[in-house]
Amino acid sequence: MRDNTEVKIDIRNIDKSDLDKFIQELGQPKFKSNQIWEWVWKKSKTDFNAMRNLPKDLIATLEENFVFHPVIVDKVQKSNDGTIKSRLKLHDEHLVESVLIPVEKDNRYTACVSSQVGCSLTCSFCATGKMKRMRNLGPAEIYDQVVLVDKQTQEYFDHKLTNIVFMGMGEPLLNYKNLLTSINYICSDEGLGMSPRRITVSTVGIAKMIKKLADDDVKFNLALSLHAPTDEKRSKIMPINETNDLSSLMEALKYYYSKTKNRISYEYISFKGFNDTLEDAANLFKLTRFFPVKINIIEYNPIDGVKFEKSLSVSIDNFAKYLRERGVMVTVRRSRGKDIDAACGQLANKG
Ligand code: SF4
Repeated sequence: MRDNTEVKIDIRNIDKSDLDKFIQELGQPKFKSNQIWEWVWKKSKTDFNAMRNLPKDLIATLEENFVFHPVIVDKVQKSNDGTIKSRLKLHDEHLVESVLIPVEKDNRYTACVSSQVGCSLTCSFCATGKMKRMRNLGPAEIYDQVVLVDKQTQEYFDHKLTNIVFMGMGEPLLNYKNLLTSINYICSDEGLGMSPRRITVSTVGIAKMIKKLADDDVKFNLALSLHAPTDEKRSKIMPINETNDLSSLMEALKYYYSKTKNRISYEYISFKGFNDTLEDAANLFKLTRFFPVKINIIEYNPIDGVKFEKSLSVSIDNFAKYLRERGVMVTVRRSRGKDIDAACGQLANKG
């Protein structure tokens, strides 16, 4: 137990074995630890007094030793197309954003969640990249976003959340441990019980971490934010490509696929005149032959201070046709939530 001068820790920052030990040292039976764990994760309670099957003296001891630092909803914006963007305040006043993307006709309700406050990687087309990276999010801060968006899905669409994409603010693989811990809670039966097959982690491509995912035998899908089909072009818009070039990424992804057989996709934002010609499509095709891969072409959403323009529809259609004719699986994602800056690359706490 802690004395009062110590700073209390967030109970969601300890693991189950620490809680078991704490409960054991209090002389309480082990099942109390299980009960607390269930309230904390499965039932997402962030107030010890809501844990109704715990005795009052145990609640008091928990309050003496631990706190909760839940994310607080600061602002919610709803787009004309149903997309909902939430700005969330963290316990240290930092802000992050989460987005609910509903596709009612397909019964698909996707949470796009953030993994860092800001981002250090300065991709030139991205609003988040214009903010400084302040810190990583903790597992519970990631988990809270999912719980929140799930609640919104139920409230607005009378449906449960079906998918999660780590495509919000930040580079998830630079917050590796917390990312995996949060996904573990999201997928565990003691947490939200979601299938990892419904989770996609999107990375700008850090070869060494992609290999680590393979070695850690993860079960979720991986998306590479490719956005350009050659090193020359990619380095112009994504500084990370200087240290993680396409050949190192292809090698890492080959390794990832050979070990996990998880689904891999490429995200490809289409910029007018930069990466949307048939020559670009031919170069992109060359990157589809190492493992099965699906390509998501994303319509660009202009952001302030960025020189790119969105591609003409006809260019996107021809680009997609070129790849499809060669047997590549391609989807074209017209942008969602543009009117509230919730679309891909637009998250920057502007609200
Ligand atoms: S695209 Fe992703 S990695 Fe690049 S700056 Fe934006 S948030 Fe960071």
